[in-house]
Amino acid sequence: MTERGFRPETLAAQTLSGVDAATGAIIPPIHPSTTYERDVDLGYSRGAPYSRPDNPTYAIAANTLTALEGGAASLLFASGMAAATAVFQALDPGDHVVAPSIMYWALRAWLLGAATRWGLDVELVDTSDLAAVKAALRPGKTKLVWLETPANPLWTVSDIAAIADLAHGAGARLAVDSTIATPALTRPLALGADLVMHSATKYLNGHSDVVAGALTSAREDDFWARIKLALAQNGGVLGPFEAWLLQRGLRTLFPRVRWQAQSALALAQQLSRHAAVAQVFYPGLPDFPGHDLARRQMRGGFGGMLSIRVRGGRDAAIATAANVRLWKRATSLGGVESLIEHRASIEGPTSPVPDDLLRLSVGLEAPEDLFDDLRAALERST
Ligand code: PLP
Repeated sequence: MTERGFRPETLAAQTLSGVDAATGAIIPPIHPSTTYERDVDLGYSRGAPYSRPDNPTYAIAANTLTALEGGAASLLFASGMAAATAVFQALDPGDHVVAPSIMYWALRAWLLGAATRWGLDVELVDTSDLAAVKAALRPGKTKLVWLETPANPLWTVSDIAAIADLAHGAGARLAVDSTIATPALTRPLALGADLVMHSATKYLNGHSDVVAGALTSAREDDFWARIKLALAQNGGVLGPFEAWLLQRGLRTLFPRVRWQAQSALALAQQLSRHAAVAQVFYPGLPDFPGHDLARRQMRGGFGGMLSIRVRGGRDAAIATAANVRLWKRATSLGGVESLIEHRASIEGPTSPVPDDLLRLSVGLEAPEDLFDDLRAALERST
């Protein structure tokens, strides 16, 4: 139960919105207005003055996320990358940062490129290895530990509670990219994290029709104030229409994510018995490293993402993606339609991902149809 007395599923289904007082509409309106009337005494008693920092439509999705994550406040950004980079940009040049060696590739590239040029001291480690995280921490110098769990595209699981303790012991904050788990499966703040980040483009919106990002903070401290000010000043905000679509998607978050997690588990089990599949990466499989941790840390499923290595190497993997009929060949994840992607060719030559790996984002189709399509494609290609 949450502080409002309702379960998270209930809060999400209604995105904390009441019936519109003026019209009786049960779905909240979109507020496209960029500017708002000022009171005669120069105040803004009705809320937002200007739509760059504030808009009543942003508030619906942001407040719902705050409740679902159990945080103090949330901010919406124009993309997941805008949300993630805002956290690092709130640090000072010279600060030491620990981040995972396996993580969303574009953020890794930004950390090693722009963030490093700007003066952050970035160290990438295997964050599924607590000893490696401990060894990387420099007390007083490390200001942020970044986790992604499960992490793209090998679905590596990192221990949020243990790393929160290690980070705090060294005087650092812990931020978690929880895009894959969503608050339906993991609540990082309850495990000790200070910040949660989402590419809301994925499961939170869930319909592959919005690019958006979100941050939720455990508390409204100075660091949060820096991030909030930077968003208002840099201006990388979400538009009201996108924020409205995001709250629309959030309403079905729980049933979507649970269905996708169940289907992904069934697919992972079937694929791990298939002769054309060399390896399956899915935290729900008992022999997956990190499975026991995932069981402790994730509630209600292991997520809708899995990857497979195809016997026969890169060519067989590419042919499998070419031969599917139902799965869509596309990047991104977390939508209602299932997606298949040859990952190494998207990530480029510096990618640590094996070149026979296909990443699968499981949608809402019947899992039997998804398996039959994939099995036929594997059998035609290997
Ligand atoms: N984090 C994860 C785990 C992602 O998968 C992505 C995008 O694929 C991002 C962050 C970046 O999000 P966006 O594409 O919304 O900028």
